[in-house]
Amino acid sequence: MKIAVIGTGYVGLVSGTCFAEWGNRVVCVDKNADKIAALRHGRMPIYEPDLDELVERNYAAGRLDFTCDIAKAVEGAAIVFIAIAALPHPGQEDADLSVIYQAVRELAALISPDSVVVIRSTVPVGTGDAVHRIISSARTAGTFAVASNPEFLREGVAVHDFLVPDRIVLGVEEEWACKRLVELYDVPIERQNTPVIITMRRTAELIKHAANAFLATKITFINELADLCEEMGSDVGELALGMGLDKRIGAGLLAAGPGYGGSCFPKSALALLQTAQDHGVALRIVEETLAVNETRKRRMARKVTKALGGDIDGLTIAVLGLTFRPDTDDMRDAPSVPLIETLQRLGGRIRAYDPVGIENAAKVLSSVDFYEDLYECAKNADAVVVMTEWDAIRKIDLAQLKQKLRQPVLIDLRNALDTEAARQIGFHVCAIGKSAST
Ligand code: NAD
Repeated sequence: MKIAVIGTGYVGLVSGTCFAEWGNRVVCVDKNADKIAALRHGRMPIYEPDLDELVERNYAAGRLDFTCDIAKAVEGAAIVFIAIAALPHPGQEDADLSVIYQAVRELAALISPDSVVVIRSTVPVGTGDAVHRIISSARTAGTFAVASNPEFLREGVAVHDFLVPDRIVLGVEEEWACKRLVELYDVPIERQNTPVIITMRRTAELIKHAANAFLATKITFINELADLCEEMGSDVGELALGMGLDKRIGAGLLAAGPGYGGSCFPKSALALLQTAQDHGVALRIVEETLAVNETRKRRMARKVTKALGGDIDGLTIAVLGLTFRPDTDDMRDAPSVPLIETLQRLGGRIRAYDPVGIENAAKVLSSVDFYEDLYECAKNADAVVVMTEWDAIRKIDLAQLKQKLRQPVLIDLRNALDTEAARQIGFHVCAIGKSAST
């Protein structure tokens, strides 16, 4: 099957490459010419484990291609995926979605008869209807279908999440189009018994936002419980274990931390809230989740200053990990940004380490000294703050770290390190949801 993917970012590149891996002929389009040129020269525009190998293999086999030419990509394509990032903020819905609508206007006249246009992006409920209207008004002949097939991948494990999904959601109302999409997902559906949910387009759009908002709520719930643990002398790790082993709850996303970030949860929860408000429905839990998470991210700087005696003016703080989660270079809505900016406002000097996120971090942070070496980053710092639980950070040699620091102060906002071992070698330790935390 020939497939076109419009938007070659984290979602488009992973999806397109994996569709090619399943034997399809895929052309990925992006308006960013540098990105396309890089891919054609074998350079990855994003960091995503295992993806480079898959791209290389499928490009070499001629199943995967990259272009800026949307006409070339959609010509003869049975399915056209839209994977452009566009999520609304309240009050700015039209402006944000216009990127998607513009792309749809472009492809409307170019798609082959009987093609299926699939929205892979996370979009507000009802976007599929608008996309259908745009295509209808641009075409005089030929049938087409517009479907929703939301993406659920996690950056850092995106290839695995795509190839071995928990479920496939197809919001498609035409039988012929549904058949084609089920055929496309033949490998997981037939060989892996992946559950497939076939539903109305609007329901599929809603499933994506509801899932994101629920996960954001789960994280926020354990974060608030962590605060309670600190006051009560309990341990949030053990609490999470005790809760998560209950299959109705599940162990995922019960790691307390500095507040969730990334390109999905915050914006998706906001989009859901706005949809509910537009329909006169109160989603108070989602509203509270958003508010609590924002406050929490700001409060993390207070945790750091408190661990340093209340005044950080002129002190140097080493921040370990910048990206919103490990194994990605994505800095969108990363909690490290508000933390660093607040510490800077309070007079702190920031040194920061990240294995792959420095290039993107440098675009959103200023006056930060970046290091690719953990221990170099910690040199002469008055405290070290763990912000992202990269493997290299988890495996840090605490004794070597202590030697580098001016003051042995460790603030572990991910509970990534062995805080007991750190204490034993003389660190003043502050973690999340543990009795001795500040
Ligand atoms: P991204 O910014 O990495 O990629 C989007 C790409 O689209 C960019 O490369 C951009 O240049 C390109 N683009 C924009 N307008 C275009 C146009 N008119 N024609 C061709 N290309 C165009 O974004 P992403 O993280 O891949 O997210 C894409 C969508 O998927 C978003 O709606 C996002 O919410 C959703 N999503 C993301 C994730 C994730 O983990 N990143 C997971 C699930 C869903």
